[in-house]
Amino acid sequence: MTSAERRAALEVIGAEVRTCTRCRLHETRTRAVPGEGDPDTEVMFVGEGPGSNEDREGRPFVGRAGGLLERLLSHVGWQRHDVFITNVVKCRPPDNRDPEPDEMAACAPYLRRQLEALDPSVVVTLGRFSMASFMPGVRITQAHGTTRLADPATGARDATVFAMYHPAYALRNPAVERESFDDMAQIPAVLIEARERRRVPAASAHAESGPDRAAASTPTSGTNADTATGNPAVEIGTASAEPPPDADQLSLF
Ligand code: URA
Ligand code: SF4
Repeated sequence: MTSAERRAALEVIGAEVRTCTRCRLHETRTRAVPGEGDPDTEVMFVGEGPGSNEDREGRPFVGRAGGLLERLLSHVGWQRHDVFITNVVKCRPPDNRDPEPDEMAACAPYLRRQLEALDPSVVVTLGRFSMASFMPGVRITQAHGTTRLADPATGARDATVFAMYHPAYALRNPAVERESFDDMAQIPAVLIEARERRRVPAASAHAESGPDRAAASTPTSGTNADTATGNPAVEIGTASAEPPPDADQLSLF
């Protein structure tokens, strides 16, 4: 998919979400919250569901939990517009109750389609409900700060899943907040490793996902790709016309 195709696919999904009535959560929402971010990003964050601020604004993680998420991102030199941020359910559960299994099931196709469109290298789950969608059967106390390969049935074709505590939980628990900063600090290395894993088959298949991914052309992945395979993977990124202004944000480490 080209960058323009990804952007268009995400917009189509967003428009469907905003008018969706597939589950009871549509009855009590103010605005649905499809998610937002860089359509060319390599990193997607998946939270649980909108809270009251998100419900009012139609944007994910804009309340206090969002403030912590932004501080966590800045810990590794990123900003929210460098990544894509969404939730397991796109409409607010009333009184911030947990989402019900049937609501998550009804909403799941939207997340799957967002994953298919973005094809992220890394999916960061925020909290238990998001984690359970990608790492079934694990406990967050043990799994936070660890990775699994995403099941392609999730829609993520070839992604590393990284589990973190939910920022709202971290806000209530200083020890968890400290652990969350430690977990976040691992993500750049997780991304580099995920790129390496994806590069090998992509290089031989002539990089179907490549051309508009400016971030894939960093010295780290590009140079190695070039010498290790003889395939000019480094040109995949440099050949793209105009990288977005913030395209190198993810390559700073
Ligand atoms: N909590 C979430 O899980 N998602 C949001 O978008 C905001 C708070
Ligand atoms: Fe539709 Fe998901 Fe909102 Fe339910 S939570 S109404 S499935 S967008």
